[in-house]
Amino acid sequence: MTTLADPVPGGRPGDVERATALAGELSGRGVHGVVLAYVDTAGVTRIKTVPTAKLASAAAWGVGMSPVFDTFLAGDGIATTDVLGSPDGDLRLFPDLDHLTVLAGQPGWAWAPVDRITQDGQPHPGCSRTFLRRITADAARAHGLSFRAAIEIEWSVGLGSAPDGTFVPAATGPAYGADRQVELGDCLADLLAACHAQGVDVDQLHPEYAAGQFEISVGALDPVAAADRSVLVRHTIRAVARRHGLRVSFAPAVLAEGVGNGGHVHLSAWRAGDNLHTGGEGRYGMTADGESFAAGLLDHLPGLTAVTAPSPASYLRLKPSQWAGVYTAWGLETRECALRVIAGMAGRRATDANVEVKPVDLAANPYLALGCLLAAGLDGLASGAVLPEEVTGDPALLPADEAAKRDVHRLPVSLTEAVDRFRADTVLREALGPVLADAVVAVREGEVAAVAGLDDAQVAAAYRWRY
Ligand code: GLU
Ligand code: MG
Repeated sequence: MTTLADPVPGGRPGDVERATALAGELSGRGVHGVVLAYVDTAGVTRIKTVPTAKLASAAAWGVGMSPVFDTFLAGDGIATTDVLGSPDGDLRLFPDLDHLTVLAGQPGWAWAPVDRITQDGQPHPGCSRTFLRRITADAARAHGLSFRAAIEIEWSVGLGSAPDGTFVPAATGPAYGADRQVELGDCLADLLAACHAQGVDVDQLHPEYAAGQFEISVGALDPVAAADRSVLVRHTIRAVARRHGLRVSFAPAVLAEGVGNGGHVHLSAWRAGDNLHTGGEGRYGMTADGESFAAGLLDHLPGLTAVTAPSPASYLRLKPSQWAGVYTAWGLETRECALRVIAGMAGRRATDANVEVKPVDLAANPYLALGCLLAAGLDGLASGAVLPEEVTGDPALLPADEAAKRDVHRLPVSLTEAVDRFRADTVLREALGPVLADAVVAVREGEVAAVAGLDDAQVAAAYRWRY
């Protein structure tokens, strides 16, 4: 479980004693430094590090870092809003000790996600982790709801020796093929060992469709912990690959053509220990509330794409008939619908039933993405929304009049269109609050400007090694 209380100057009760004990333990295990990680609005993980001996000080008083990074672009340019993007000011990064992890793939280092507060000790309104903690805490307090989430990770493995930023797949075997496991077996085994040592329960690891592409699925956790885990696992994949002379990319589209890297989100809402997505009277066992939650997700998908698919490269991935889910439709286990209802296997439905949101990639800040998905689902719950007729097969094949009649539409085909839909979505903007909502718009517009005049291949190249 994640601590939902905000950090405070001097540390929350017990934090300093705990950090002091932890630092001693870490030193005994040969850990010299702790990586303090957060994800910016553009989806890039930015860090500071402290020597292990300074962990207690960081738990008490945080570590300084500029708020300017909230409007950094993926290419390190800077956008501005009314309150963000200025060189003024400082924030304090507070490590979450509950999620501090010794990095098995990077000997000598530990890692912790951070919450950011102001020098006055107030929560920073631009902190995406604080936003997700707040949505989760409010849903528990106001509605007695909790959530479980997992973010799938797809990535492309390239040769570290490839010239000039090019991508040369490090595995050449067929899609889902055994060859690829043989080609990269040592690296994959090290990855599994590192995940195990870090307490990450891996459900499966497999070669994916595109050249050099792999996927890892991990167990579901509370939303904040699930977002932390996504950041940690990607850090681990990168570190392990590097030790094998390989280079990895989580970019939505490493190449302009073909299947991209997704970051599908699995989400379930729970009340009093019951999974709302199973055991009900509705379609596929959904309870009325479970259906409303899913319907809320579906309703808000167009605006959500500005958060879940935030890069110009995201729109190279979001193409029909590539399992990325680019239509406003839902279906049971249907891989071409944006929303895939997963009833689970007989015997395990009580734990496993969930909804999978597919138009999400790993350029997305996972805290913003999960928080906005929860806001969308909660809006569906509040209004008692119902799902339309389900779609089976590929929605791209529906005749135009039939698609229109069933309200099946393409999700935004460009970042510009996604931002327009986001601007029009008051539920998402209000959930984020003005500072974060403005940061989303400013950073997306900055990315659009950064790629003006580039063709698809140049866009893919521009973001290939940024995520
Ligand atoms: N790579 C696909 C995507 O872009 C997903 C493939 C799958 O369903 O696992 O989302
Ligand atoms: Mg996959």
